[in-house]
Amino acid sequence: MDGKKRDNLAYIGIGSNLGDKVRNCREAIERIGAAEENKLVGRSSLYRTEPWGNEEQDWFVNAVIAIRTSFDPDGLLQHLKSVEEQLEKKKEERWGPRNIDLDILFFNDEILETPSLTVPHPFLHLRRFVLVPLQEICPDFIHPQLKLSVTELLERTNDEKKVTAL
Ligand code: ADP
Ligand code: MG
Repeated sequence: MDGKKRDNLAYIGIGSNLGDKVRNCREAIERIGAAEENKLVGRSSLYRTEPWGNEEQDWFVNAVIAIRTSFDPDGLLQHLKSVEEQLEKKKEERWGPRNIDLDILFFNDEILETPSLTVPHPFLHLRRFVLVPLQEICPDFIHPQLKLSVTELLERTNDEKKVTAL
């Protein structure tokens, strides 16, 4: 043990649809897990998913991980941005192609609304590409605003996009 207190439980969404998508996702997961503030405690399969929002673009690879972390929410966001930069995030448009996107889905059961951060992630309950991998690792986690479990959110979503384990 190194004595670091990693008291927070966070779920992070990982996505890529440019370049070597599987490699980009694996590399991001490895870098997040390698930070001394974090401990990787859960990891979904990688999924091949249909694009959401801007439908002209290529399919994505998505996954969700769970970490125990000593970062606070802003610290975690900065950390994720630095991992995105290390992987040379290139993004031209909203919901457009990117080689890596890292989103905070849940941070404990906290509800946060600041200019830089909305937690739980505001779209997570609308997106099968997030809910399917989340259900794999935390089916009973309760969305702190909607007061429904991940399984219940997945049952209720209208999203019909394809999400297939790789
Ligand atoms: P996208 O909305 O497509 O994920 P970006 O990845 O470029 O777009 O993120 C844009 C900004 O979204 C980030 O700089 C960050 O400040 C903000 N943001 C708000 N809530 C979150 C969250 N829960 N997780 C990650 N980023 C968030
Ligand atoms: Mg993002």
